[in-house]
Formats: sequence, structure tokens, C-alpha cells
Amino acid sequence: MKTLLDELREHLGVSQVMTEGDLTAYEQDWRKRFRGRALAVVRPGTTEEVAKVVRLCAKHGASLVPQGGNTGLVGGGVPNETGTQVLMSLQRLNRVLSIDSANLTLVAQAGCTLQAVQAAAQEAGLLFPLSLASEGSCTLGGNLATNAGGTAVLRYGNARELCLGLEVVLANGQVLKGLSGLRKDNTGYDLRNLFIGSEGTLGIITAATMKLWPQPGARCTALITCRTLDACVNLLAVAQRHLGDTLTGFEAMNRLSLALVAQHFPQLTQPLPAADWTVLLETSHPCDQAQAQGELEQVLAQTLEADIATDAVMAQTLAQGRALWHLRESIPLAQAQDGHNIKHDIAVPVSAIAPFVRETDALLAQALPGARLVNFGHLGDGNLHYNVQAPEGQASDTFLRDNEERAHRLVYDQVKRFGGSFSAEHGIGSLKLNELESQKGEVALMLMRRLKQALDPSNLLNPGRVLR
Ligand code: FAD
Repeated sequence: MKTLLDELREHLGVSQVMTEGDLTAYEQDWRKRFRGRALAVVRPGTTEEVAKVVRLCAKHGASLVPQGGNTGLVGGGVPNETGTQVLMSLQRLNRVLSIDSANLTLVAQAGCTLQAVQAAAQEAGLLFPLSLASEGSCTLGGNLATNAGGTAVLRYGNARELCLGLEVVLANGQVLKGLSGLRKDNTGYDLRNLFIGSEGTLGIITAATMKLWPQPGARCTALITCRTLDACVNLLAVAQRHLGDTLTGFEAMNRLSLALVAQHFPQLTQPLPAADWTVLLETSHPCDQAQAQGELEQVLAQTLEADIATDAVMAQTLAQGRALWHLRESIPLAQAQDGHNIKHDIAVPVSAIAPFVRETDALLAQALPGARLVNFGHLGDGNLHYNVQAPEGQASDTFLRDNEERAHRLVYDQVKRFGGSFSAEHGIGSLKLNELESQKGEVALMLMRRLKQALDPSNLLNPGRVLR
């Protein structure tokens, strides 16, 4: 009788079923915190091949882990240690299939990198606004499977809000063909939204129809310093009031975040003197550049005059704007260079963010004396990467081993108290199963388990992720 590997090779070709050589790129996650072993890494090239692999795995009782760019941060896209799971890379499904300029939509296969999707839209004179620091590697399928957020959620929403249709291979190998580009379609249950954010546990996304926008006529980027986080929240309110929909990004970074960037990337220019808080603000306008800069200048002058901001600088060229974004995007890399850290990707209502940080900083200072708090993120969405770094001079591995659980407990209890989410962007994967079980609520968990049971009764797709 033929083995699963025999049949996979027969249908995909020997070169697309990898069992030997260095498979680290597929078997280990981006942060190098999860390392598994796959029975095989398979690389189907069409939706039909994806469906075939799913049927073969079902026939042989092997479970499947879908993977896009492997940039996920919660250990959801790598195999477990058993050596029995098939890792399915979607990277060969990498074509942008069509762009409809009148309908403002794009259809692309799941393995397209986010950068390729952005570039295709731009070539057509349009904008695909999803933007993450991992965009050169992460894929559209992964973005949808994790409901990725990023830097423009404030204006355009998460991946979910940008998606109009999906093609999905189900756990029984059937294909749900739902690539319509309709903005209105009230024909029964919203199946698309079931798969978005399901982290490969309910179906394998093979293609998607995404919304596009006209390219903005002008874009402005500014760096602004504030004395407190309350002041940053005030600045956000003023910017929203005066800039309306043109405000597309509002990121906050605490002093230590930028200090780490200065330490590990001294070649990057930081144009303002260090402050307790720095905001990176972006606007996108339909008007010309001069008018756009004038509008933003007025708002900045007003906030400086009102003592909400202490200093501000506006990029004069696109390259300067990119350099300011590069500072923000370098924070996770600077942190990684400084050693492992205890990560929290949390959200609370914007109105609660300053008191949350004040109280939680104080509690952490008491519980973990000397620990360094690297706090930055999408303040406009109430989403912070509230990370805890080992005290200066202390080995990060020992610090994590001794304190990670305690820090998580403290931060997540605070998040709950402030009505927030313990996972704003990155999902659950295998990292946050306990937290989901303790915080999601009995009824929600029951519904999630029933959905999983209905769509994947044999627990074939990414078992042990999201739900135990
Ligand atoms: P993978 O890592 O390959 O997979 C992630 C999950 O999706 C896994 O559970 C996997 O099984 C599943 N999956 C992947 N493809 C499919 C598919 N086609 N069908 C079904 N399931 C699938 N995330 C944010 O939200 N916002 C950010 O700002 C952000 N910034 C980041 C910055 C850096 C430097 C890094 C490394 C990561 C960042 N991330 C961010 C996390 C990550 O990039 C996103 O979660 C991204 O959407 C994952 O895409 P991927 O293709 O790499 O997915």
C-alpha cells in the first residue's frame, strides 16, 4: 500500500515534497521560540493541489499546518515536535490574478507577499493600505488567517475590513469559491468572516478579493514629542478633530523604545531630542503636497502652543518620511538584538490607555525591580506592544525563565480590569491557549469549539492551535 509520502510525491512531484535537508525556514518560527519537525514540507502550486493534499492527509489521518511567510509571532504556523504533521507552504500560490479599477478590488492568491500585493495596486495607480513591518515576507493568506492589523488600521481597518471575498479549501477537500468583489451581499451567514482570523484551524485560504483605494495625492509624516502618554492621547484627539479621515497612522513610542534603536542602530538619525514619549503621525490627502503640509503644520503649531506637544518635525521628502517610519519599524529588531523579552500585544480602549500604562508600569516596577519596559505601538487603535526587557546587565534567558509567567499574569489581569484584549493583533497560535481559555468566556468558547467540530470534525487542520 502506498504511504502518504508516496501519494504526495505522485501528485505534487518529488521536488515539492521536502523531507530532507535544512528545513529550518519552515520548521522554526520567526522569533526562534518554536521549533518542530514535519513529516514533510509540501508546496502545492494550485488550489486543486491544495485540495488534493488535504484529501490525502485526511485519508492517511495526518494533520496539516498551513504556512505563509512564517512571520507569525504566536507559534501558529510551524509543526509540532511529533514529526507526523504535514507542513503546507502556500508560497507557490503567488500570483495577483486581477485588478478591477472601477470596482476598486484586487484578486490575489494566498501566497503573494503583502509587498507584492501593495506593488500591484500601486502599478495600477491604486492603494492597498495594509502595511506591516514584515510585509516583505508575510503573505496575504497569512494576513487574513491572522486578521493582521499594522500601521493604517486607524483609517482603513484590519485585514478583515479590507477583504470582500475568499477562496478556501475546507478540511474535507471541498473548495468554497467566494471571490466576489461585492460590497453588499446579504445572502445568509457571513462565511468569509469565519475563516478570517481562524489561524489555519478552519480552512486553508487559497485566494482573496481585497478592497483598494485611490492613491492619495499627498502624504505627510511627522515626529512629535510629548511629556506624558496622556498628552499623546490628547494629541490624537486634536489630530482626529482637525485632520479627520486624512489621519492614517498614529504610533507612540516610549523613551526606552527609541533608546534601544539608538543603541543598536546608531546609523539611524533621530531628529528630535529624546523624550518620554514620541509620536509618529501620518496623514494621506487627496489634495497636493503643499496644501497637505500646510494643514498638518497648523495642527502641529496648535498642539505646540497648547503645550500638548513639546517638539515636532515634519518630513520634507518621501525619503525623510520613510526614514521616520524606519525608526518605528526598527524597535522590534533593536529589542531582539538586546535579548529575548516578555512580549504583550494588548489593546485597551484609547480612553483607558494612559491610566492602564501608569498603573501597570508601577505594578511591574514593584514585582520585577529593574525590568525595562519597552512600550510602543498603534496608539490610534488602543494597541500597544507592552514588552518587558531584562534589567540592564541581566541575562535575558534567565530573566524570561524566572519571570515570564508572573509578568504575563500581572499584565493580562490589568488588561482584563481595563476591558481590553490580551491579543490585539497576533492571535492565539499555541502561545496563548491558556489565556484564551481563562479569558474568552464559557459561551464564546463553546461556540468556537462547535464551529471547529462542524468544519473540521477530524481535527485535521492545525490541531492544538487556537483551541486545545
Ligand atoms: P504565517 O506566520 O505563515 O502563519 C500565521 C498563521 O496563519 C498560522 O497559524 C498559519 O497556520 C496560518 N496561515 C498562514 N497562511 C494561511 C493560509 N493561506 N490559510 C490558512 N491559514 C494560514 N502582525 C500584525 O498584525 N501587525 C503588525 O504590525 C505586525 N508586525 C510584525 C512585524 C514583524 C517584524 C514581524 C516578524 C511580524 C509582525 N506581525 C504583525 C506578525 C505577522 O507578520 C502577521 O501575523 C502576518 O499576518 C503573518 O503572515 P504570514 O504569511 O507570515 O503567516
